[in-house]
Amino acid sequence: MAKKLPKTDVVIIGVGWAGGIIASELTKNGLSVVGLERGKERVTEDYYMAHDELRYALRYDLMQDLSKETITFRSTEKIRALPMRQYGSFLLGEGLGGAGVHWNGQTFRFLPYDFKIRSMTEERYGKDKIPPEMMIQDWGITYDQLEPFFDKFEKTTGISGEENPLAGKRSNPYPTPPMLHTPSMKMFTEAAKKLKLNPYTVPSANLSESYTNPDGIARAGCQYCGYCERFGCEYGAKADPVVTVIPVAKKTGKFEIRTHSYVRRILHTGGKATGVMYTDLTTGEEIEQPADIVVSTGYVFNNTRLMLLSKIGKPYDSSSGTGVIGKNYAYQVIKGTAAGFFEDQFNLFAGAGSLGMGLDDYNGDNFDHSDLKFIHGGNIAHTVTGQRPIQNNPVPEDTPRWGKEFKANSLKYANSVLSVGSQGSSMPYRHHYLDLDPTYKDAYGDPLIRITFDFEEQDRQLARYLSDRCAEILQEMGAQNIMKLKELGPYEITTYQSTHNTGGVIMGENPGNSAINNYMQMWDMENLFVVGASAFPHNSGYNPTGTVGALAYRAADGILEYSKKGGLLV
Ligand SMILES: Cc1cc2nc3c(=O)[nH]c(=O)nc-3n(C[C@H](O)[C@H](O)[C@H](O)COP(=O)(O)OP(=O)(O)OC[C@H]3O[C@@H](n4cnc5c(N)ncnc54)[C@H](O)[C@@H]3O)c2cc1C
Ligand code: SF4
Repeated sequence: MAKKLPKTDVVIIGVGWAGGIIASELTKNGLSVVGLERGKERVTEDYYMAHDELRYALRYDLMQDLSKETITFRSTEKIRALPMRQYGSFLLGEGLGGAGVHWNGQTFRFLPYDFKIRSMTEERYGKDKIPPEMMIQDWGITYDQLEPFFDKFEKTTGISGEENPLAGKRSNPYPTPPMLHTPSMKMFTEAAKKLKLNPYTVPSANLSESYTNPDGIARAGCQYCGYCERFGCEYGAKADPVVTVIPVAKKTGKFEIRTHSYVRRILHTGGKATGVMYTDLTTGEEIEQPADIVVSTGYVFNNTRLMLLSKIGKPYDSSSGTGVIGKNYAYQVIKGTAAGFFEDQFNLFAGAGSLGMGLDDYNGDNFDHSDLKFIHGGNIAHTVTGQRPIQNNPVPEDTPRWGKEFKANSLKYANSVLSVGSQGSSMPYRHHYLDLDPTYKDAYGDPLIRITFDFEEQDRQLARYLSDRCAEILQEMGAQNIMKLKELGPYEITTYQSTHNTGGVIMGENPGNSAINNYMQMWDMENLFVVGASAFPHNSGYNPTGTVGALAYRAADGILEYSKKGGLLV
């Protein structure tokens, strides 16, 4: 029998960006909130003098412990899925602040096209452009409706950036100026302009200068230390939930954080959530936390898994195409990239998680797809994120993998390889989804979440197209030797690509094609809100967290309204 605690107004499952934003907004407005986080407490001091590549980048110190809980993966429905026993394709967050602590900070807004992808694609190219198996849909919200929430997230985090001529209209400039430009970024800019493209500085949550946000949180400027992606920031310069929204919530006296608390069920009766059941990982005790409102912010996999384990919403069935929970899992096509070898040295050991130049000429519907066998596209960027000594050892393709020549080229090119990469968008397909694995369980006996996914012809065409565009830019930059993608193979889970998973509990215009409305409120359970990239019906050609942040602010507004009036908000 679980121990039952006194009721709270709101319980939040997982305290990363989504959970932290919601906690901050609700507590500022007087609600009492309990945040349950399965990982440990974290503070900036943890990272003082800790540029330890082995510990953080290669042994994943800040990430979920896969021996306790992981995902299983299969490429088609015809085969049995196997568990991901060590990290590869993506890295899962755990601990206070979630993956927001070790992210890079590249902070984009999805394009207006993304939110109306089906109607705009059909309008421009006709219905036949969309293959029958591709399940894209309009999101039930427009860019203009979401714009004030993008603005709010950017002000909280202090994003450094400049106008991007091909993105949606902004109500305000970025709160801080763009990051510094390195010599290679200048080369990219010049080359892109010569090719008549529209380069801009990548919007960055690594601050270009010291900044105080509207909540009164002051942070220092970035030191370009190069130990950013996969690391916490020892200067507090990188916007993460621990140094931005969580302290604001704590200051109200209305936010109680319980770490080492692993939520295993959302409890409900009569169509309403009544709280959650969690295991205290320090004692093994099962505890019930009753609440008027439940908010699930445990990232794509756990948001979906908790719905399925708790029997909330109708599970997706790929054979009939019915049901909504687990539907529209999407990823990203990161391999449409190119690397150029130069004679010059670029001091690539210095950099920042979000330092670079990007362009959107080949993203969204910013270019004509009439003669192309894919829709959407991807952001192309040259980033300078810090070439750390163990992981980075690029050599030209024809170099032997060992011996004298390998050593000589490793030294020669350590600081002379520049990459131009792309983030290809990912469309949902009828046979790509998340469900509960029938075989494998977590350390507490609950089924793992199972991914069924592979790249499609759309992805292969897109990757080749983007890789060619990346190579053109490198050519113009003066690279002597260019390596680019020749063919996108099948999706494999063993090499790192991107932690930009999406879908599973998606938003939409009606309960027939979506699990939640545009306030992230479950259609089937009005006091349950599910927030994060699990809400995206497809994945765009950008990093997701700017859009996750905007949707979290939108959800917070909805929850506050719901707490006063009740009922479905849409
Ligand atoms: C190396 C890396 C670099 C990245 N760089 C960028 C970037 O430059 N730009 C960008 O936009 N995005 C980036 N991302 C992605 C970004 O980190 C995520 O989009 C973002 O952090 C998601 O926030 P979230 O709050 O939805 O989820 P998370 O940050 O994953 O937080 C979820 C939290 O919930 C907790 N939790 C889950 N299940 C339970 C449960 N059952 N009980 C209790 N707690 C639970 C987890 O422990 C975790 O702390 C990067 C990711 C990685 C790994
Ligand atoms: S690069 Fe900048 S923001 Fe990133 S960890 Fe270093 S100092 Fe912090």
